[in-house]
Amino acid sequence: MIAVLAPRTPLEQKAAVVRAIEARGFQVVVHERADATTRIGVVGSGAKELGSLLGAMPGVAEVRPHSTPYPLVSREDHPGETRVRLGDQRARTARIGGKEIAVIAGPCAVEHREQILTAARYVAELGCDALRGGAYKPRTSPYSFQGLGEAGLDLLAEARAETGLPIVTEVVAPEDVDVVAEKADCLQIGARNMQNFRLLQAVGGQPRPVLLKRGMIATLDEFLHAAEYVLAHGNPNVILCERGIRTHERATRNTLDVAAVPWLKSRTHLPVIIDPSHACGVRELVKPLALAGIAAGADGIIVETHPEPAKALSDKEQALTRDDLRDLMRGLGPVAEAVGRGRPERMARSAG
Ligand code: PEP
Ligand code: MN
Repeated sequence: MIAVLAPRTPLEQKAAVVRAIEARGFQVVVHERADATTRIGVVGSGAKELGSLLGAMPGVAEVRPHSTPYPLVSREDHPGETRVRLGDQRARTARIGGKEIAVIAGPCAVEHREQILTAARYVAELGCDALRGGAYKPRTSPYSFQGLGEAGLDLLAEARAETGLPIVTEVVAPEDVDVVAEKADCLQIGARNMQNFRLLQAVGGQPRPVLLKRGMIATLDEFLHAAEYVLAHGNPNVILCERGIRTHERATRNTLDVAAVPWLKSRTHLPVIIDPSHACGVRELVKPLALAGIAAGADGIIVETHPEPAKALSDKEQALTRDDLRDLMRGLGPVAEAVGRGRPERMARSAG
């Protein structure tokens, strides 16, 4: 529900409206509009009952329902772009959203100390913005490598301490959220958990940014509803990630839904990135898909890379080598520039 205040409503009347809403346990989104009106969005279940109370308050010109089922992620009350900052745990800061595109790179899984440190070093050297690596792995088979768990988080923290790269890592269960939030800079919710509502609530209630992947059979509408869960539970810092959906096509692991990027960007203020690695599952296709995603307006990419792909314990076929990652970084700059995203200095550097 939205309360529209008349132009030039005095500050104390605005504050009284906000207080009345918050006192009843609802969230408030205030948007000062160019036409001098103020729109106050009321978010929460049962907000409708507040209608007559707000309608009678001084300064309130109109009360009407939201025109979207996901008012917090929608652009309706948020005309700007949300920029999500990764890295306040003594890491250098990466920003996702805004003019420059961002690159998150690293292995599918943290396997051992040398593997993650080697990867982290070249990921940093090539000018990427953040390091990825799974410590808790959601695997199709119970007999596949499940990740190192907390020991993997400690290795990621060591990689951050050495390179300064913020850490992005997946959390698969609500009971692990606290330990992952304590050690990582950004919590990834994997495709298989996009509609694990208890997990979405748990990451909504902790302070680190969330990288939310689209479920492999989820519609875009369901994807935005999932993001709304995280925001509704108090965390405004969500990055959406299109990682390929399951279609009839079997030649590639999944099908990258490029249209998802402009569709999402037109409806939400949240940053949108793509994951070309899981979208195709084969090394050779990662770069062209990454470029397509950036050309379509994505705010960045997340890609898998491994110092020795043949030895990777998971997703070896899609892991970029160091040289592949360098080649990808070289390719990104001109495409980003061509679509008005600017060419980050560090990409020019890795092209040198
Ligand atoms: C991953 O990023 O390693 C991963 C498991 O991705 P997804 O959830 O998209 O399959
Ligand atoms: Mn993977």
